[in-house]
Amino acid sequence: MGFRLANTDGRAALVFGDNYYDLEKLSGGKIGSDPMEALAEVDTLGDLSAGLAEQTPTGRLEDVRLGSPSPRPRNCYGIGLNYRNHAEEGGMPIPDAPLVFTKFPSCIVGPDDDVEMRSDYVDYEGELVAVIGRGGKDIAVGDGWKHVAGLCVGQDISDRPAQFAAAPPQFNLGKSFDTYGPMGPILVSPDELPEGGAMELVTKVNDEVRQKDSTGDLIFDVPTLVSYLSHITTLNPGDVIFTGTPGGVGVFGGKLLKDGDVITTSIEGLGTVTNRCVRVADHPRADVVPLPIKNAMAGKSPG
Ligand code: ZN
Repeated sequence: MGFRLANTDGRAALVFGDNYYDLEKLSGGKIGSDPMEALAEVDTLGDLSAGLAEQTPTGRLEDVRLGSPSPRPRNCYGIGLNYRNHAEEGGMPIPDAPLVFTKFPSCIVGPDDDVEMRSDYVDYEGELVAVIGRGGKDIAVGDGWKHVAGLCVGQDISDRPAQFAAAPPQFNLGKSFDTYGPMGPILVSPDELPEGGAMELVTKVNDEVRQKDSTGDLIFDVPTLVSYLSHITTLNPGDVIFTGTPGGVGVFGGKLLKDGDVITTSIEGLGTVTNRCVRVADHPRADVVPLPIKNAMAGKSPG
């Protein structure tokens, strides 16, 4: 049995329709209130979900503040250039192995939280996000989905000057500013979704559609990423994988984020993440715009 897991005001809850059911109460105290604890109990989450229709809901989702379904992962990975059209718009070759970087777990925020931008060259990247349930090491590709607790929507917000401040570029810091990892709104287990995980992803800035693609177009799909990473690092319950963004990011169209912009990212079957952009203090390299960014904004190859 599948499940839908939410972080309601910091407490783990199962979701049925528009209602949520507090997991600690529902489980009779067997599972604590911490969403990280719930992610290590995927079998129990499935069992409890089977009986939700007969339970009294704790409340309605619209009345609570949702946090990230995995608020404090031990590790958070990002994948670069994982859609053909995004590699092509950047003038980059199609990678023959996953291009992996880290997003520090401290960048993760809830699905409706503000993004605090520290330069005028901050970009959106709408992404499918996978969260690990059963941990493991040396996982075969064919077993990859068994280790995924669920999928949700994420924004891999990217400060382009920090990303390209040095040569060769180093992605980790530029994608790890505080608030640069909104994710949610709820975590949906794979068996509740289309087989293979092909769903439409749409990113809008204000009312303008900037990205529209199918998550079925991932070059390295979710089970492949799970397997690849697990042969290098042990995967832990709650670990997060931002699987990469399709074409249409701001830097190549000269449309970077501005103070007050609202980014809306939706994936069919998973819901919508809505983030308002707030321009705060500059970071130390905010006014140093590297040549690849200037080229990209002028419509030239970033290299
Ligand atoms: Zn990304």
